[in-house]
Formats: sequence, structure tokens, C-alpha cells
Amino acid sequence: MTTSGFKHFKRPEPLFRLFAPLTALPGVGDKLASVISKRVGSHVIDLLRHLPCGVIDRSKRPAISQIEHGSIVTLEVEITGHDKPPRRSRRPWRVAAQNKTGRVDLVFFHARGDYVEKLLPLGARRIVSGRAEMFKDKVQIAHPDHVIAPDKEDDMPRYEPVYPLTAGLTAKTMAKAMKAALEGIPELDEWINPDIVNRFGWPEWAKAARSVHSPHSDADLMPNSPERARLAYDELLANQLALALVRIGSGVDEGRAFPDQATDGLAAELTRNLPFELTPAQLRVIDEIRADQIAPRRMLRLLQGDVGSGKTVVALLAMLHVVSGGAQAALLVPTEILARQHHATLTGFLAPLGITPGLLHSKMKAGKKRDVLAALADGTMPIVVGTHALLSDNVSFNDLGLAVVDEQHRFGVRQRLVLGDKAKGVDVLVMTATPIPRTLAMTAYGDLVASQIDEKPPGRKPVITTAVPLDRSDDVIERLRGAIKAGKQAYWICPLIDESDSLDIAAAEGRHTELRTALPEAATGLVHGKMNAESRDTAMESFRSGESRLLVATTVIEVGVDVPNASIMIIEHAERFGLAQMHQLRGRVGRGDDQSSCLLLYKAPVSETARARLSIMRESDDGFRIAEEDLRLRGPGEVLGQRQSGDPDFILADLAHHGDLLALAHDEAEGILSRNPMLSGDEGTRLKLLLSLFERDMAVTYLAGG
Ligand code: ADP
Ligand code: MG
Repeated sequence: MTTSGFKHFKRPEPLFRLFAPLTALPGVGDKLASVISKRVGSHVIDLLRHLPCGVIDRSKRPAISQIEHGSIVTLEVEITGHDKPPRRSRRPWRVAAQNKTGRVDLVFFHARGDYVEKLLPLGARRIVSGRAEMFKDKVQIAHPDHVIAPDKEDDMPRYEPVYPLTAGLTAKTMAKAMKAALEGIPELDEWINPDIVNRFGWPEWAKAARSVHSPHSDADLMPNSPERARLAYDELLANQLALALVRIGSGVDEGRAFPDQATDGLAAELTRNLPFELTPAQLRVIDEIRADQIAPRRMLRLLQGDVGSGKTVVALLAMLHVVSGGAQAALLVPTEILARQHHATLTGFLAPLGITPGLLHSKMKAGKKRDVLAALADGTMPIVVGTHALLSDNVSFNDLGLAVVDEQHRFGVRQRLVLGDKAKGVDVLVMTATPIPRTLAMTAYGDLVASQIDEKPPGRKPVITTAVPLDRSDDVIERLRGAIKAGKQAYWICPLIDESDSLDIAAAEGRHTELRTALPEAATGLVHGKMNAESRDTAMESFRSGESRLLVATTVIEVGVDVPNASIMIIEHAERFGLAQMHQLRGRVGRGDDQSSCLLLYKAPVSETARARLSIMRESDDGFRIAEEDLRLRGPGEVLGQRQSGDPDFILADLAHHGDLLALAHDEAEGILSRNPMLSGDEGTRLKLLLSLFERDMAVTYLAGG
């Protein structure tokens, strides 16, 4: 059943260089490539999409006496003296320089050999550029960015882009790699409707791709500069086209009709056995889903419901409906931990029905994996929970009838396309706890229909949220001691923005050790993404069973973890978390009968945005409001810094600023496909190039109906 039609679609030749690995660039070796790929991505195109967040104007040549502390200046000076430190001294090497407007010191730490003397020979004239500082009333520049002879002035770029960097990645190496990447940009035929290009005065693609990397002013960095807006529109158009292709091409009529089983069948049996009453909201969405399932069209439905609203059981009922009809159902989740958790939950629910769900993730032992794959292929495994591993080529289903995607904001359109490709006309139910604003919903789902669970199971009390500065963590630990004595359980979350950030892991480990010592009675456990599965399982299990009262975790537990007795959520460095993320985390508590609380530990001083986030968290427990505020508060700078936790579908477009372009792209995509449904002719060729550029190639297979 896994025809994977998209594999037959070849990436157009003009794009080869863009999708080459970084090492294909002249001057970029394995080492540099691996440093860049940690932050940016491993292909040339990823580098080109890494946009500057600032610009340095090297043309400012103030009088030395007028220089402001911290400004970037360029000066032409004569070298008048060298104060070389004695050997082994830690004193820096100071070079005295001057011009008509004053004197300046050029300072070098750890200078080796005669490097400084060669760079700045006594008596020579040099142009130096760098950040000026006031030190004991004198102007100095430590390690100038540029030092050049006056006749080589043109070697220094007048405007220098500033890129978001990371440990190990310096501005110089970035500039070098970027230069090589920029030289390989191909000219591509225009895919945007000329009326639109003219209306906005947008440059053509190659020009835009180059000039976003040579900003001349802050205005050029704004999301609505012509270059940035154009590239954002390209991305949005590719997204909307892909979604429209999937929707139209996958055939709304091509689904299958499962027999109605409102009163008999496995779903009904489970409902009778549930330890609780389904809420009216759950019952309503179950009906909506069932209507889709029994209708002969394909289901593409979004199930929205705040954290803790009870989506899992709704999904399970939908899965059972399909299983009763003789087909299989898969639940796709973003992390291994969550896969295990869901697998355990489902196993519990399904035991009375005599069904054993399968589990699939990439870290499984080969033998076990083989068994699961075989059981999926021959249909003996009716229900499977898994991670991205479910999407790999070697997974094939005997008869996949329903794919449920949980916490979908972690998945891109691409993954959903692959999933849809695993079986023809497979019903798709996408669950999300982060209520998505309209614009986001449009980009992620096109015209997907939404169901909402807009109430929580009865008896839940709102979580009391407070913000406390981190330097009062001792008090917090004392209060925790009391709470644990009183039988409560708590999470202590440490930030982990980047899965591979060893500093953050170390901080979490440090906190764990500290809490173990301070609160020996709590049997504090630790889970983070870098641990092996067994230790993580042990820690989770021991927390679930109540043996361990405190769990230190990085954000790996963000989604889906369900321990009803846990009633305290402590988020350390809350200022580093996004709103949606904090709301998700807070949703881990407030599930049982106890009054729950959430403590946001922040490190002062916090930025204005972070402060705003903290106060929204204190004021509101409404996921919708929080999601909206989240989008509003994301300034362009922060968005750049938070890519990994942002929307996986967009790199260039920023929905907070490009909402109007999104609407335009939506209408264009619809127009194009109603005019030219098979994307044929020159127009089709150009648009396929666009889809390919944004790796939406597989959408093209839907032209032929899947
Ligand atoms: P989420 O929507 O965040 O995925 P879950 O499905 O994990 O929420 O449900 C949260 C908890 O509420 C689970 O322990 C679940 O068994 C329980 N639950 C679900 N529906 C109900 C209900 N109608 N009444 C009481 N508890 C429920
Ligand atoms: Mg859930």
C-alpha cells in the first residue's frame, strides 16, 4: 500500500545546488558544515534561509572625541605605539593610534607572536573598524573586526549583516559560508503572478534571495521589506498550493464509508466500560467524527481542545470505530516519551476489549521492530502508537483506515502528506491542544474542518499561578518540602530549547542533584531527551506510581504526560519559555481533585515581552486567549531566536506580520488550481519549481490522485 508516489517526482535541476550539502560550498569543510548545521540546517538552502537579524554600518566615521560607548565605528588612524605585554603576562597588548580627532587604543588579549606588530606596524596608517568602548576615559577598540590598509578600503564591506549565531559559530565563519552560498543562487523563472509582483514592487526571486543578506538599514530587516515580503510570500504560496493540492487531489469523495456503530461495536463497548461519563463536549465531537467516518468522503478533521479536555479518549473511540470496520488505526505523536505514555494509556483502556496496541519508535530493538512491522503489514495489529518512525518507508499497513496525529503543531505539512500517502483515502484526525488562531489554522490545514472540545471534565479547579524570582528558589524548595509531606507531587521543569544543548542538560542535571540532596524524602527523578529510554521510563514510572514525589524534567514532558496526582508545576527560567509552551506545561497539573498551583520562576531582570508573558499566564487560563497573545507578542527578533519551537512549516514567513500575504496566497492557490488543476504548461513547471524549493514536492503526486 505504500506507493510513495512522490518519490517519482524529481527535484528540478536548477535547484540541485541549493539542496546540496553545505560541504559542497567552496571553503566549507566538514567541521564548519557541522557547526553551521547545528544552528541552521545542513543544506545550502538552509543557510540562505538563515536571515540576518541586524546590520552594521561601517561607514560611520565619527571624530574620536565624539565616539559613544558601545557604538560600531570605523577610523583611519596612524599607529603611534605598541605596549607589548611581557611573556606569560595576562595583560593585553595595547596599540596606541591616533588621527586629527583624537587618540584610541587598540587592544588584543592573548595575542601570539608578532601577529599584532604585523597587523599594525608602527608608523603605518590603517583603517580599523569595531565596537568602541570607553575605558578609563579613553576610547578603545578590543579586537577590531577589520584592520586594513587605506588603499584596500574597498575590501571592507560598507554594510555587514549580523546573523543569529550560536556557540562555536562566529560571525566570520558565517560570513564566509554565506558568501559562498550566495554565489550559487540560480536565476529561476518567476512563479508569482506579475500583477502581484508589480503591485508590491517585489524583486525577482534570485535578487530577493541575495539582497536579504545585504541589508543597508534596519528598514531592510523588517518583515515587510520588499525582499523579505517576497520570500515570505513564496513560502506561503508553496504552503497554500500544497494544501490545496492535497485537498483537491486526495479527493474529498475518495474516502471510505465505515459502517455506523453508534450502539454496537468496540467503540460502544469501550464507552460502556469507561470509569467516567463523557462530557457533553466530548459526546458532540464524537458524533461529528462518526458522521465523517460513516460518510463516503475522506475525513480531514481538526480536533481542538485545551490541555486536559480529554482528547485521547475521543481519538481512541474514533480508532475503535475503524477497527470494528476491519481496518487499522495509527496514532502519531511527536516524541518517544509521549508515544510510550499514550501506548500505556491505550493499553489500559483496551485491555477489557482484548486488544493490545503496538508501539513503534526509532530506538526500538531491531527484532521487536520487525515484529511490529510484520504485524502492521499483515493486519494482525489493529492499533499502533508511534513517533516519526511510523512515517518511514519500511512501514506499511495492511489496511490503514484512520491516522490520528496528536499535538500536531510539532508536525509539518510534509509529515502529514507522507502519512496520507501510506494509504489511499485514509481518514485523518489531527489533535491539538494549542488552540490555533485563524491564520495559523489556515496555513496548517487549508480548509480542514474543526471540532472543538470546549469544556473540561467536571471537578477541575483552575490552577493558581504565581511568578517568583529565581533567587528565591530556596523558599520555593521549603514550600515544596511541606507540600510533599502533605502527599503532593510536583514537576520541576528546566528549559531545554535545543535538544542538543548540553549546557541546558547540565543545568537540569545540576538542579536534580540539588533537589535530591535538599529533599531526600521526595526521591526526585529526572527525565530529559538525552537519557536512554530505560532510565527515562524508570523515572517516569516511579513518578506515575507515586514512589517518586518530584520529577525534574526538561520540556520533553511538555505534551501529553498524565499523572493526575501531580498538583504542582514549577517552571524554572520561565522567562525563556513561550506562552503556548508554559500553558501546555501548566496543563500537566490541575487534573486531580487537589487545588493545583503553577510557579513561574524567572530570572530577573526580564525583557518586556517576557514580563508580558508572565502576567498573561497569571491572568488567564484560557488557551485561546493565550495562543492569540503568543502570536501578538512574538516580535521579529524573538521569532528568529525561537525557530525550533515555532511553526515547523515556516522559516521565512512570520504570521504575526504576514497575515495579509497569507490571505493573498490562499486566494492565489485556489485560483491557480481552479484554472489549471493539473499544474500543466509553463505555469505548472514554474509552480512545481516553487513547491520543490520549499520541499513540498510530494503534494505534486496528488495531481494524479494520490
Ligand atoms: P488532553 O486533551 O490534554 O489530551 P487527556 O485525554 O490526556 O487530555 O485527558 C486528561 C485526563 O482526563 C485523563 O486522565 C483522562 O483519562 C481524563 N478524562 C478524559 N475524559 C474525561 C471525562 N469525561 N471525565 C473525567 N475524566 C476524563
Ligand atoms: Mg493529549
